[in-house]
Parts: sequence; C-alpha cells; structure tokens
Amino acid sequence: MQPQQKEIQTEVLIIGAGPAGLAAAIYTARANRKTLVLKGKAKSSLELAHAVENYPGVESMSGPELLAKFEKQAEGFGATIMQGDVIEYGLGYDPKMVTTRGEIIISDVVIVATGRGGHKTQIENEDRFIGSGVSYCAVCDGAFYKGKKVVVYGNDHEAVEDALMLKQLGCDVTLVSYCKKVKCPESLREAARERGITILHNTRIKSIIGETRVEQIVIESEEGGDFLQTDAVFIIQHVPAGKLLERAGVNLNQRDCVIVNREQETNLEGVYAAGDLTCGGMQVATAVGEGVMAALQALKRLRAKEGK
Ligand SMILES: Cc1cc2nc3c(=O)[nH]c(=O)nc-3n(C[C@H](O)[C@H](O)[C@H](O)COP(=O)(O)OP(=O)(O)OC[C@H]3O[C@@H](n4cnc5c(N)ncnc54)[C@H](O)[C@@H]3O)c2cc1C
Repeated sequence: MQPQQKEIQTEVLIIGAGPAGLAAAIYTARANRKTLVLKGKAKSSLELAHAVENYPGVESMSGPELLAKFEKQAEGFGATIMQGDVIEYGLGYDPKMVTTRGEIIISDVVIVATGRGGHKTQIENEDRFIGSGVSYCAVCDGAFYKGKKVVVYGNDHEAVEDALMLKQLGCDVTLVSYCKKVKCPESLREAARERGITILHNTRIKSIIGETRVEQIVIESEEGGDFLQTDAVFIIQHVPAGKLLERAGVNLNQRDCVIVNREQETNLEGVYAAGDLTCGGMQVATAVGEGVMAALQALKRLRAKEGK
C-alpha cells in the first residue's frame, strides 16, 4: 500500500454509479449490507440522455434527473457513493481487493457496472502495453521507473501531481497535455516548471511503439508529428475498464463485453457484472434489471458465507 492510499473495508463494492450500479446498491443497502459505490470520472451514459421516455413508470424525464433519483434512493437506504476510478482489480481471491488512486478497498463481493462509455482506449497500442510501460497510476507503478524517461499524459492537477511525484523518483518527466493550458492551480504549474518538467501543450499521443515494452510514442501537435523516446506512459484520464478486468482474470468476449450467466455471475466467484458492460440490452431498464439480479446473487453469497 502506498502512503497516500487509505484502506476501506466493505461488504459490497459496486463499481459504477449508473443505473446498473445504483439499482444494485438500492437492493444491497436496503438489505442492510455495507455498500460502497464507486463513481468514476467518466459520465454515466444516462447523463447524456436528453429525455428518457421508455423507462417504465417514468413518462418523460431527462437522463441526469433520473440518475439523481437513483442516487438519492441508493443513499437513502444507506449506500455510500464515493468518487474514484478503479485502476487495478484484485478479484481472484477472497475477499476482493480493488485499488483507486487514493484507496485500497477490501470487499466480500464485487459488482462491476462500469458501462461502455468513455472506456475505449484512445491511443493506438495502449491496450497492448498495459503493464509493460502503460500505467494509469503513478503512485502504484512509478517506482518501477526510477531514474528513467517517462511521459505523463493528462490535463489536470492529478497529472501535474503525478509528474512531480515521478520527478521526485528521479525520472526524466515530460507532461503531454492535449489542451492549451493544464487545468490546475498556478502554484502547481510553477512547481512543475521549477522542477524541470517539460510540458508539451496542445499535443496528443497518437500511438505507442515498442517490441515487448514501451519504447517510444508518436505525438501530434499543430506543428505536426514527432517521436518521443520513453520507458513508460502514465495515462491520467480515462481507464479502460474492459482490459483491466481481463487482466484481473475476468472473461470477456470478442467485443470486450464481460461474459455473465443469467445470474450475472462472471467466471470469478463473488464477482458479478451488470449493465452496458455485459452488452445486454444497452438500455436503462435492462441495466437496472441486471443490477438487481447481481445484487440478489451477491446477497445470497454473503448469506452463504455466513452459513445462513
Ligand atoms: C445519448 C444517450 C441517450 C440514451 N437514451 C436512452 C433512453 O432514452 N432510454 C434508455 O433506456 N437508455 C438510453 N440510453 C442508454 C443508457 O443510458 C444506458 O444503457 C445506461 O446508462 C447503462 O447503464 P450502466 O449502469 O450500465 O452504465 P453507465 O450509465 O454508463 O454508468 C457507468 C458508471 O461507471 C462508472 N465508471 C466507469 N469506469 C469506472 C472505473 N474505472 N471506476 C469506477 N467507476 C467507473 C462511471 O463513472 C459511471 O458512473 C442512452 C444513452 C446515451 C449515450
């Protein structure tokens, strides 16, 4: 565990605060189970829906309004909703262990409901090098690159903080930002300049190149394309849920959808998946249905573990 990370224990961990995750939370929290819901940076697809007219019992409502109702109901039954993106899954053991930037969460059961939006990898070959130079967590993996050349790709205070942390480890750090100005307090920008961190603005990483590990990246800005040698790329924005789950041993199909049975069980015991990430109906009602089924199975497992 890193010094910045705190440990949290829960009975039910639900990853994703969309219709599937929140429906599951309503059931597990109402059943008096300690329920923690993680809400990632990516928006729930429902937040993008202008008007929902096909969710039974709701004639017409905007997506954000409907989502706020789900949240209120889940919290009303005692669920805790916490901001945080999962950057590593440890699902093969009992209890499960899931890592975010700031927390290590230990849970008896896990329901994954991370949807399908915003998780697609944006950089060519990003998937290929996860764990071989591509990381989503400088705090977790930075120490492997002490004294080496690293790139941090992001545009907010987290990216600058990670760049500073890597610099502290003796890395030669370049911060690549796709915006004109990094979104962070001036003091952080100043600290980055003082510590000799190179910042490339208005620049995107197009692809990652290497034999078995990251060796260089292709960047593109208004001035054109270029190559940059690096040992690692820390991507501080989206987290591709599918690939991380696969690395944790969860079976996906060819479309990167999590494979579940009718009880929403994955191939790993005590790990359930619900909603758009199973590529079911891709609707609010189906996500809710799957979330509820996952919750019922999770509750059954908790009772079985307790011999009830
Ligand atoms: C424009 C638009 C309009 C739509 N209109 C309708 C409609 O009219 N009717 C209808 O039934 N459906 C509609 N849909 C589809 C519907 O919104 C989705 O089917 C539904 O939201 C899926 O729910 P979900 O819980 O599976 O995922 P999502 O709602 O996408 O929620 C995913 C959650 O997972 C979180 N997350 C992601 N990655 C991580 C991570 N690494 N760590 C922690 N949390 C993470 C996200 O922050 C989010 O909270 C629409 C979708 C869109 C985009």
